[in-house]
Amino acid sequence: MKKIFNTIIVFTVFILSACATPAQENKSGMNVLASTTFLADIAQNVAGDRVQVESLLPFGADPHVYQPAPQDVAKIENAQLFIINGAEFEHFLEPLMESAGSQKNIVEASASITPRESTSNEHGVDPHMWLDPNLVITYVENIRAALTQLDPEGAAVYQSNADVYVVKLKELDVWIKAQAQQVPADRRLLVMNHKSLGYFAERYGFEMTGAVIPSFSSNASPSAQQMAELIDVIHEVGAPAIFLDVADNDTLANQIAQETGVKVVYDLHLGSLTDGAPAATYLDMMRHNVTRIVEALQ
Ligand SMILES: [Zn+2]
Repeated sequence: MKKIFNTIIVFTVFILSACATPAQENKSGMNVLASTTFLADIAQNVAGDRVQVESLLPFGADPHVYQPAPQDVAKIENAQLFIINGAEFEHFLEPLMESAGSQKNIVEASASITPRESTSNEHGVDPHMWLDPNLVITYVENIRAALTQLDPEGAAVYQSNADVYVVKLKELDVWIKAQAQQVPADRRLLVMNHKSLGYFAERYGFEMTGAVIPSFSSNASPSAQQMAELIDVIHEVGAPAIFLDVADNDTLANQIAQETGVKVVYDLHLGSLTDGAPAATYLDMMRHNVTRIVEALQ
C-alpha cells in the first residue's frame, strides 16, 4: 500500500513539473528576435514550442519614432535570426545595422508584398501591411521559410504551425469583412493620426479620407495649411471620427475635433501589442481596432 502511495506521489510530482515547464521550450536552441511586439507574436505562432521569439521593442513603443537603447545592438548581434517588418518601417535600425554589421541573418516579413506608394510629393512607401491580415499570410510564409532555413529539422513543425495560424488569419479577414458591412457605405471614412490604414482601407472598403500627419510615419508634423486642408475635407465628406493610436500625441487631433465637431477615438493599437488585454496578441489587436472603428462610424 505504501509503495503504491509513493508511486502516486512520484507520478503526481512528475505531472506537476511537466505542467510547470514553460510553453516555449526553445527545443532548437536558436535565438530569434523580432523588431517589435506584433511581429514577435506572429513569428511565435509559426515557431511554436521549438523557438522562443523575443521582441526588441517593449510594449507600447512606437517603432516609427523609437530611440534605440545601447543594449539593442548586442541583442541584434546575438540573434541568429532577426525578423523585421521592412518597407521603411524600422528607421531606428538604420544606424544600428551599421554598427551591428550588415551580415546579420535578417528576414523582412513584408518581402514580396508590393508596397503602396505615396500619392503626394512626399517620399517613401507605406509599411503598414500588417494592418491587413490577408497580407500577414505573406509575413507568415516569409517567417516560416526563414525559420526552416535556419533549423531544417523543424521544417514540418513550422509548416504545420503556419498552416494553423493562416486559418486564423483567414477567419479574422472574414470577420473584419462582416464588421465593415455594419458601417453604412457613406460613413466608411477613416481619418487617422498618420496614414496607417491604407492597406486596411483597400481590403475592407474604407476610404482613407485624411491624416493629421499626412505621412506614412508618425515622425513628422503637419503645416498650418495641411491642418486647414484636413478640416475642410472633414467638413466636406462628413467624416465621423479621428482615430489615434494610444501612443499618439493627441493635441492636434483635439484641435481639429474642436473645429469640426467630430469625435476622437484615442485607443487604437496599430504599432504595438499590449501586456495583457486589449491587444495581447496580433489577432486581439486587430479585433480591438476593428471593434472601435465600427463603433465610432456606425
Ligand atoms: Zn504607422
